[in-house]
Amino acid sequence: MSILDCAIIGGGPAGLTAGLYTTRGGLENVTMFEKGMPGGQITNSSEIENYPGVTGEITGMDLMMPWPAQCQKFGLKHDMVNVTRVSKKGDIFTIHIEDGTTQDAHSVIIGTGSSPRRAGFKGEDELFGKGVSTCATCDGFFYKNKEVVVIGGGDTALEEALYLAKICSKVYLVHRRDTFRSAPNTVSRLENTENIEIILNSSPDEVYGDNMGVTGIRIINKDGETRDIEVPGVFTFVGNDVNNQTLIQEDGTFLCDMNEQGQVIVDISMKTSVPGLFATGDMRIAAPKQVVSAAGDGAVAALGAISFVDELLN
Ligand code: FAD
Ligand code: NAP
Repeated sequence: MSILDCAIIGGGPAGLTAGLYTTRGGLENVTMFEKGMPGGQITNSSEIENYPGVTGEITGMDLMMPWPAQCQKFGLKHDMVNVTRVSKKGDIFTIHIEDGTTQDAHSVIIGTGSSPRRAGFKGEDELFGKGVSTCATCDGFFYKNKEVVVIGGGDTALEEALYLAKICSKVYLVHRRDTFRSAPNTVSRLENTENIEIILNSSPDEVYGDNMGVTGIRIINKDGETRDIEVPGVFTFVGNDVNNQTLIQEDGTFLCDMNEQGQVIVDISMKTSVPGLFATGDMRIAAPKQVVSAAGDGAVAALGAISFVDELLN
């Protein structure tokens, strides 16, 4: 089995851009390990309006659709597998795959992104997939002309509440504080949407239902007053956790230096503390968590990987 010049873990905007730049930049043997369809978490977004040069109403899926074919044109291979671990012995990295097989590589670019966090209220786990959701584009249509609750006060919650307001008869936006984290433009769109009721200083207490799924949610405000809202759908958008599991070694330590939030520490070239290992996108320290910056990271890391492999082998 030949050793890859570069193994890319994750096929979101960061991994795909790394794939484009490594292959087009001269690395011949590059595989992107992506467990699902390439595109990353933005493919769950109903609308993206801040990717430079892309105007008009487009979904995250529309944006990402052409990226894999562009990379494949320059020779990027896609292996649709779940990577369980990345390790390094001497100069060689080993990619451990869920089916028990392995693949060696001279360099690794990791961009496994982040995943939606659970809010932690009663009933959330039990009713997840039965009325509790973290994806409006996936599940919004089930609630056409019905009422839903959205939890959260960041960009994702507000944008997805606006999306749901176009499908649902009413959206209750429940946020635990009285100010939002979201962009001001998004906040004003929210405030000017007639069928969105904004409920501030309130948190979910318990979501409940019957054997058909969710029937309602009880929220509680800062003064301890509760309110029951009868809805069949509850969408939670309360942030993301970094997907860093593949960097955990057999002894429980991380392959490279991490910060206390589990984000990978990198320099401005996306180099980690381990030579030949680069980290990109949402999983790195100080990530702006944007498609454009994840793509930028992928390009920077790819240029670093090309130089690294060149020096190693020549
Ligand atoms: P991701 O997109 O998370 O991709 C990581 C990939 O790695 C995934 O495809 C995953 O399947 C794969 N993976 C993970 N673990 C493994 C493994 N063990 N083995 C194999 N593959 C693995 N940004 C904007 O700029 N504008 C927006 O309007 C915007 N809207 C958003 C709306 C929503 C609902 C969400 C959730 C995010 C939004 N973002 C937006 C943020 C943006 O999507 C992310 O910043 C960006 O996708 C990060 O890219 P990434 O490549 O780092 O990671
Ligand atoms: P976020 O910015 O971390 O916001 C999470 C929200 O959920 C916060 O308002 C938080 O409240 C609330 N929250 C957290 N835990 C909670 C809990 N247990 N119960 C109730 N509420 C809870 O996450 P995000 O909105 O997913 O955004 C993640 C990143 O992606 C951000 O950097 C964002 O800018 C970016 N993004 C950008 C765009 C865009 O550019 N258009 C779109 C989507 C996402 P507090 O405010 O009180 O902490």
